Amino acid sequence: MTRSAARRPAPAAEPPAAPAPGGPGGPGGPGGRTLRKLAELPVTTLVGVGEKKAAALAEWGVESVLDLLTTYPRRYIDRSRQADLADLAVGDQAVVLAEVRRSQVLRARRGRPRVELSVHDGTAGVTVVFFNQPWRAKQLPVGSQALFFGKLDTFRGALQMVNPVVDLVVGVDGSAGDRERTGRVVPVYPASAKAGLDSWEIGRWVAEALRRAGTFADPLPEPWRVRLGLVDRTTALWHIHAPGAVADAGPARRRLAFDELFRLQLSLVLRRRATERDARAVRHQVSPLQVTSVRARRPGPGPADPPVLLDQPATLVESFLASLPFELTVAQRRALAVIFADLAGPLPMHRLLQGDVGSGKTVVALAALLAAVQGGHQGALMVPTEVLAEQHFASVRALLEGLEVGDPAVLGGRRPLQVSLLTNRTTAAERTRLHQGLADGRVDLVVGTHALLTDDVRFASLGVVVIDEQHRFGVEQRAALRAKGRGEGDEGADPDLLVMTATPIPRTAAMVVFGDLDMTVLDELPPGRSPVATAWARTPLEEAAAWATLRSEVAAGRRAYVVCPLVEGSERVEARSAVDEFERLSAEVLPDLALGLLHGQMPASEKEATMAAFRRGDISVLVATTVIEVGVDVAEATVMVVEDADRFGIAQLHQLRGRVGRGDRPSWCYLLSESAEGDAAARLEALAATTDGFELAEVDLRLRGEGTILGSRQKGQSDLRLASLQRDRDLLDSARDVAEAVTEEDPALDEHPLLVDELRLFLTDDEAEFLFKS
Ligand code: ADP
Ligand code: MG
Repeated sequence: MTRSAARRPAPAAEPPAAPAPGGPGGPGGPGGRTLRKLAELPVTTLVGVGEKKAAALAEWGVESVLDLLTTYPRRYIDRSRQADLADLAVGDQAVVLAEVRRSQVLRARRGRPRVELSVHDGTAGVTVVFFNQPWRAKQLPVGSQALFFGKLDTFRGALQMVNPVVDLVVGVDGSAGDRERTGRVVPVYPASAKAGLDSWEIGRWVAEALRRAGTFADPLPEPWRVRLGLVDRTTALWHIHAPGAVADAGPARRRLAFDELFRLQLSLVLRRRATERDARAVRHQVSPLQVTSVRARRPGPGPADPPVLLDQPATLVESFLASLPFELTVAQRRALAVIFADLAGPLPMHRLLQGDVGSGKTVVALAALLAAVQGGHQGALMVPTEVLAEQHFASVRALLEGLEVGDPAVLGGRRPLQVSLLTNRTTAAERTRLHQGLADGRVDLVVGTHALLTDDVRFASLGVVVIDEQHRFGVEQRAALRAKGRGEGDEGADPDLLVMTATPIPRTAAMVVFGDLDMTVLDELPPGRSPVATAWARTPLEEAAAWATLRSEVAAGRRAYVVCPLVEGSERVEARSAVDEFERLSAEVLPDLALGLLHGQMPASEKEATMAAFRRGDISVLVATTVIEVGVDVAEATVMVVEDADRFGIAQLHQLRGRVGRGDRPSWCYLLSESAEGDAAARLEALAATTDGFELAEVDLRLRGEGTILGSRQKGQSDLRLASLQRDRDLLDSARDVAEAVTEEDPALDEHPLLVDELRLFLTDDEAEFLFKS
């Protein structure tokens, strides 16, 4: 036996192992503690949690025993494999568990303040030095124990570790007696010196909670668990907190992560089923075949398709598709076939359409809206901002130019298709007229913002709703717009719903945020696009190269965008700084070129005039804010320069870049940023490395973490403590499959009362009511 092993305490007398399967109330059975029971027990029922500690825990969001048991260790110390200071050499990367013996704060003249600790692990001592972290003195008082991760070096002959990563394990009041009972593997909890909680204390309370609970009720029937290769819940909870060996923690984590994902997927699948249960769908007069028949109608080179349907008058959808100056891509055709099948079907569509920037989602969405109109219904397109609404309105109107709809109320039985715009900027008079038109059915399509959701917007017969940039809208807004299909007397029907994201989001995030929708992906760009050569320009020399490319392209008759720095604050502040930037560029950087300015605060007429001049080429460089992010479509534009690019997010830069490379000429995008570091640098590097939006979405998820992507949506979605959308893709898929399977067989979950109880626990009352009303 080595010296260090002898020094360590023996494993605990009662090792925290799970009880044998099949015992009384054993795993998988209905017996054992339920999560609800644990949620009802306040932490003060545990020995050692008095009022003061309870208050500290509450500050941390831990009030019940369930909260405590779902506070998981950040890592484990494997005492059998941990290095002794005495065995380490200079240059070693080390993890040591040591006690603070001496502590002092030093402030050299003109130097940075530093905290110096003498720590000892029983075999040897080392000096730990923190620069510029004065609070370390408080965090690590004499007598406390912590894990120090860092590199050993020497200073004036003595061993030292500079700025190590620290996990406080035992605060000063953790008693020595407790330390003796520690097993071989010690869980390290996220301790908080500020709240006066250390990892050791938390571990002790958790251990007591486990001991008192014994076994836990498992909502997953054993056969499922076995098929999924997951351990039972009792084993999982014991092993995550007190693994006999570090290797036991992995399966425990998987099981608990599965539970998180499963609850979430189950609520989404149930939401979907609840919506369908009460649904009254419009059976739209459209057939998936219309997508292919359009091809047959189109004159053009290549082997002729059989001339089907030529003797019938074209439907609105067919006329629209035939009027396009291009062939649909295979992906667009495939998506439309699926969408039309949904539209014609007995249930309202709930579909997410994902596609990269420039993949042609607008055309697909318009075809879906027109399918409603051709059956005498109406369509609505909702977008998050006024600027977007205006842009979409302009491009939609252009695309639908010349189309007619049948209307028995007018002479000749046909009239031009009527498209309108509704935002908060719509004048009162115009608004009244529009409300009337929507209510009596004279307006066929409406493009708008949240203004569409107000009570006085009523439709004669809303057939299809398209929501663009859905991630900026909540589930509630989706439901509110859908509800517009039913009149006050509940005589209408539920419109079909198509949701689109501006740029792709990772599949896993989509399954969580949009898990109640079916998904279609446009995985193909229209032909003839050339990838945009993207460079991160960091030095003055590289920036000069960017302006040089811009100049030579403009000289060759092409056009360029300069995107102004993103300014926090109001649209007005942003506009102001765009004006300044425009003046600077006109005076200093590009004085000899024809520059134009575009920002969100300009009157619509001025914006339109500027865009028209840019399209014609009277303006060759458009200096703009992010108003050009979406919808701007000028094929001659081949260069984009983004200033202070580090301020933008990945999705936004990708969307901006989509404004160039729309013709068949080579194009460039220059991201200017001298100072980007860390995540900002990683973003710019990713943009330079790929033009694939799906790939960039994964990078974005990795950099930003799930929290920011998921936002604060339903309560259940913030329940992801262990599950990771990157690491646990397979678990997410299984969770989805099991959720589908169980609700297929047992829609009300009558056979699974424990599952229902857990869902109710994790969801808000309203949500639970909606899911389980019979
Ligand atoms: P996004 O998917 O980013 O919303 P858009 O719908 O704005 O893309 O389409 C981008 C551009 O591609 C538009 O100019 C559109 O007219 C054009 N487009 C769409 N589909 C095709 C196609 N099948 N072939 C060629 N161009 C297309
Ligand atoms: Mg779009």
